Amino acid sequence: MLTKVSIVNVKDFDSIPKAVVEAIKLIEDNLSFNFKNSKQILLKPNLLTSKKNACTQPSFVEGVISYLKEKGVSMENVSVGDSPGQQGKSATDVGEKIGLLEICQKYGIKLVDFESDTPIIEKIEGALRLKQIHVAKAVKECDILINLPRLKSHIEATMTGAIKNYWGIIQGGLKAQYHLLGKTAEQFGEVLADNFSWVVKNKPNRLIIYDLQNIMEGRFGPGGGSMKQWDLILAGTDELALDCVALEIGKVKTKIVSHVKNAMDRKLGVGNLKEIEILGVPLEKAKNQTPKFNVPGNNFTSVISFMTGHVGYKIIKKIPNLIKERCVKCGQCAEICPAEAIKFIKGNYPIFLRKKCISCLCCSELCPNNAIKTKMRGIAGLFD
Ligand code: SF4
Ligand code: SF4
Repeated sequence: MLTKVSIVNVKDFDSIPKAVVEAIKLIEDNLSFNFKNSKQILLKPNLLTSKKNACTQPSFVEGVISYLKEKGVSMENVSVGDSPGQQGKSATDVGEKIGLLEICQKYGIKLVDFESDTPIIEKIEGALRLKQIHVAKAVKECDILINLPRLKSHIEATMTGAIKNYWGIIQGGLKAQYHLLGKTAEQFGEVLADNFSWVVKNKPNRLIIYDLQNIMEGRFGPGGGSMKQWDLILAGTDELALDCVALEIGKVKTKIVSHVKNAMDRKLGVGNLKEIEILGVPLEKAKNQTPKFNVPGNNFTSVISFMTGHVGYKIIKKIPNLIKERCVKCGQCAEICPAEAIKFIKGNYPIFLRKKCISCLCCSELCPNNAIKTKMRGIAGLFD
């Protein structure tokens, strides 16, 4: 069976939320689940860092909410969540800066910090490199996952979009740890595809709405690249198909994007354009009206991947550091630690076992009294 991808031009509507609703309606009959029967619908935007251009636009979340309301879904069953790429920042911090928190409050939906619960350890069958992951509890428990990526160039992964956005289901500093499993651009592509394979296997009820309205490109993506207006929205149920369509519109060959190529080789979705039914704006028309997507070349991404894989993350890897004056000895940090690296005896200060610590920084995110600061490991820590 063909998979469906809708393409909508934002300019044909008087607002982004209305265009989002239309994009979903066009592929509605591809959905094999009923929103109204769901008790936990999780929206997963890209909340990389506290810069508007680096994140999925909050108006996309608003569009999905409008659609769900039309379907009679109770907002009590809906939440938005992510784990930002910026260490020490929560989804709430980023959401507040970019205007997403305001939207969540307006509609009475929860904004979940993935670091606020102990992550769940999951094995990845058939993985090439990432054999197990710590998945955010909100992701593990949701029965419908709505992925809201924004198309951006990526200094190591060439581009970030529908597949790469799932890197955020891993909590905080663990992302950096897992990155070490992929020391070259190709290997990192395998790691990303491993993570995606967990999603494909464990989260069958998925919908993706792709922000291509104002994309980020150039060598400084995904945090600080230059912006270009494409005025498009894509929707579908197959991340690989959506990434392939986005790359086709931007006239970029899929084979230069390691994680997309790897997902194609492993048949983690539909990667052949002939097997994708386009609805809404025809693909050729979308291509003709859109400038080329300027992504970093393979030589550049290889050098950056080598540096981060071998050196970068090892240097920036941080560990928790207790500020005793602030600690009220509640023990919550020990409860959440996924590595059992915090020893806590009632009435005493927590003790951090550095050798066991995997630098996820969940304890620092969670501490209600802000009593856990982070500092770099080793000699670099003296200057941190
Ligand atoms: S969560 Fe914070 S306040 Fe509570 S024991 Fe841990 S460091 Fe102390
Ligand atoms: S002690 Fe280390 S492993 Fe445990 S929650 Fe804190 S940063 Fe993560």
